[in-house]
Amino acid sequence: MDIENKDLELEKKKQEEQKPEENDYENVCFVCHRPESKTGKMIQLTKDIHICPECMQRTMDMMSGSNVDYSKIDFSRMPNISMINLADLQNMIPKRQKVKKKEPKKQEEAQKVFDVRSIPAPHKIKESLDEYVVGQEQAKKVISVAVYNHYKRVAAGAQADGIEIEKSNMLMIGPTGSGKTYLVKTLARILDVPLAIADATSLTEAGYIGDDIESVLSKLLAAADNDVEKAERGIVFIDEIDKIAKKKNTHQRDVSGESVQQGMLKLLEGAEIEVPVGANSKNAMVPLETVNTKNILFICGGAFPDLEEIIKERLNKCSSIGFLADLKDKYDNEKNLLRQVTVEDIRKFGMIPEFIGRLPIIFTLDALSEDMMVSILKEPKNAILKQYQKLLALDEVKLEFTEDALGAIARKAMEKDTGARALRAIIEEFMLDIMYEIPKDDNIGQVLITEDYIEHRGGPLITMRGVPALEMQG
Ligand code: ADP
Repeated sequence: MDIENKDLELEKKKQEEQKPEENDYENVCFVCHRPESKTGKMIQLTKDIHICPECMQRTMDMMSGSNVDYSKIDFSRMPNISMINLADLQNMIPKRQKVKKKEPKKQEEAQKVFDVRSIPAPHKIKESLDEYVVGQEQAKKVISVAVYNHYKRVAAGAQADGIEIEKSNMLMIGPTGSGKTYLVKTLARILDVPLAIADATSLTEAGYIGDDIESVLSKLLAAADNDVEKAERGIVFIDEIDKIAKKKNTHQRDVSGESVQQGMLKLLEGAEIEVPVGANSKNAMVPLETVNTKNILFICGGAFPDLEEIIKERLNKCSSIGFLADLKDKYDNEKNLLRQVTVEDIRKFGMIPEFIGRLPIIFTLDALSEDMMVSILKEPKNAILKQYQKLLALDEVKLEFTEDALGAIARKAMEKDTGARALRAIIEEFMLDIMYEIPKDDNIGQVLITEDYIEHRGGPLITMRGVPALEMQG
């Protein structure tokens, strides 16, 4: 008897311990999607379905106003009509119909915790970025300072002196595979803030096929575990922003270009936005939550092809006036011409002035050189080579690459013109054989990858434990 009582008590304690976490989330009306904090106490229909008093009342009014006695109707005899089975409904709705509560008191606390001193200084942010991202010195410097200022602004909040620091949203321009996404991902990890990555090409103006613009905030909310306060300090990266440039000479409605830019304006600047929780569209049967974008850092990135032509044209125009007239092709061979980009060039490319105006920090990433590719292979903290070396080390096999082999891999990657993204594909291709063959023989102690192997002229050099090196037959 005593033991039973003890068990019951333990169970009770357990439930109480779990309760606070459950209490952090509030119910959402199944019909109007508003949370309980707005609607007042909900009526629970099933375990996961709640309905607010207003919607309940409306339903009752409708039923009583129509003078029909529903209890006398036999729905089972009517073709195509059946009573809704609440149990079925439960399977239809998304699992989590709850959103995390906003706690007004805690907001102050959160600001306190997010204090200026806890934000790493720009040089510290850059140092951490250096461990992962090769080259791109200027970009890393600009982004470190901008992020530091942004979070200082967040921590400072609205000041009594009326000086409000401007938001430091950014526009990042760089060729594909030069590390744009990687830079932002690394940054979010260093700062430990939620990050959402969205593709501008999938966004359309609300009401058209595609994702609503608000969907980027849904992703952020998901990354923040449905915690609105956390999401409101996050980072949103919108890739391929150049794809929503204004279309030239079109008479149709530009639903995925200029109007998406227009639609993004209020998001970038800071506004209270109703965000569907866990879906891409407001039309889905999901709860809505209000997210303020004032402190969300937006980083837009794109390759902006042909932007170099626009820059070249401008530079040529400048120099062809008067005595300074130059050769027209003077800038044709200039490397990293993108660095000379101006706001005017981006406007000419097709971004509307209001949009550019909300991205005050513009910087560029350089195209990767062969040397940078080699560094990317071996230097970053989680470099691809280090990953393979670790894998083979678990089999007690040492994996080495000659410098010539690395050069050959980099050269092959350069040919593909997709930046560092090509590196992994190339390495995976030839590492497959090695990863397949090596575990067969316990006596293998070391594998040396040579240029000949990369160029398909021979096999890698294998060293057996305690025996001189020999070439593996391909
Ligand atoms: P994009 O500029 O097209 O967004 P990504 O950032 O997605 O390119 O780069 C693709 C991959 O290439 C990354 O996951 C990363 O591993 C590697 N990479 C690209 N640039 C660099 C760099 N500068 N330093 C280290 N790795 C890089």
